[in-house]
Amino acid sequence: MTSGRGRDPSLDSHVVYSPRSWADIGPHVFPMEKYAGVVESLRVEDGLGTWLEPEPADRETLLLVHTADYLDDLAGGVHTPRTVASELPLTPEIAAFFVLACGGTARAARRALELGWAVHVGGGFHHAFADRAEGFCYLNDLAVAARAVQRDGLARRIAVIDLDVHQGNGTAAIFEGDDSVFTLSVHQEDNYPIKRRSDRDVGLVSFDPSRAGGPWVEDRTYLEALAPALDEVFAWGPELVLYQAGADPFERDQLGGFRLTREGLARRDRAVLEGCHAGGIPAAITFGGGYAEDVADTIAIHVETIRVAARVWREAA
Ligand SMILES: [Zn+2]
Repeated sequence: MTSGRGRDPSLDSHVVYSPRSWADIGPHVFPMEKYAGVVESLRVEDGLGTWLEPEPADRETLLLVHTADYLDDLAGGVHTPRTVASELPLTPEIAAFFVLACGGTARAARRALELGWAVHVGGGFHHAFADRAEGFCYLNDLAVAARAVQRDGLARRIAVIDLDVHQGNGTAAIFEGDDSVFTLSVHQEDNYPIKRRSDRDVGLVSFDPSRAGGPWVEDRTYLEALAPALDEVFAWGPELVLYQAGADPFERDQLGGFRLTREGLARRDRAVLEGCHAGGIPAAITFGGGYAEDVADTIAIHVETIRVAARVWREAA
C-alpha cells in the first residue's frame, strides 16, 4: 500500500477515522457531526475509498500522560473535582469517545512517520490536563500520542503546533519543562482559557486599534505573526509535528474573535505543512475546535486542511 514517504498517491492510507467517533453530548455548540461530515465530503469530492480504523488507547498508554485517579474517575463516570471542570456531560459513551480519540491521534502519528503525513479526523483536545478535564476535553490525545511515539522509540523530539483560536493550555502544562516536546500556541489572548506557558506563545488580541495592518486579526496579521513562530519550531529540529488545526480562528466562528477567511486558513495550513515537508518532518493533523455559525464552514475548513496536506506531499512526489 505504501511506496515511501510522500509518494503514496491515495488519500485512503493517510486518513484515520472511526465511525464510532461520535457521542451524544446533548444540545451543544460542539458539532460532533463534523467528523462524519468531513469523511463524507472526502468520499464524494476527493474519492476517499476507505480509511484506517483506530483502536481505543489502552490504559497503559493513557497513563503515560494522565493520572490513575483521574482515569478511574472517567472510567467510573464519577463526578469529582477532576471531572467536573469539563463543559461536557460525563457518560460512558463520551468517556469512550475520548479514549478512542487518543488511539486515533496516536495512530495518525505513527502513520505520519511512515508516510510523511496523516490526519486523524478527530482529536486536538488540547485543554485536557494530566489530572483533570477542561473545556470540551477529557483526555489530551495530542500529549498521549506524543508520549506513545516516544515510548515506542519512533521519535524523540516532537513539536505540537497548536493553531486553534484558544490556547493549548493543557498541552502546555503537560509538557512544561520537558525539553523533548516543543509546544507552540498561536491564539486569541482575550479569550478562554486561563493561559499556561507554552514554549512559544503568540497571543493576539482580537481588537487592537494601534496594530499596524488593521485593528482586527485578519489573514495578513495572523500569517505575519505565525511565520516567525513556525521558523522557531522548525529550527528546533522536531522529528514529528502534531498539528492542531483548529477551525475556530474563522471569521464567523461563535467562540472565536479572529477574522480569518477560509482562504486565510488554507494559507495557514500551507505554511505549517510546507514547512514540515521542506524540513523532512512528518506531520500528523488533528482537528481541534470549530464552531462556525454554519457547520458546513467548519467541515469545509477541516477538509481543506487535508487537501492542503495531500497537495503539499503530492506536488513533491
Ligand atoms: Zn478552540
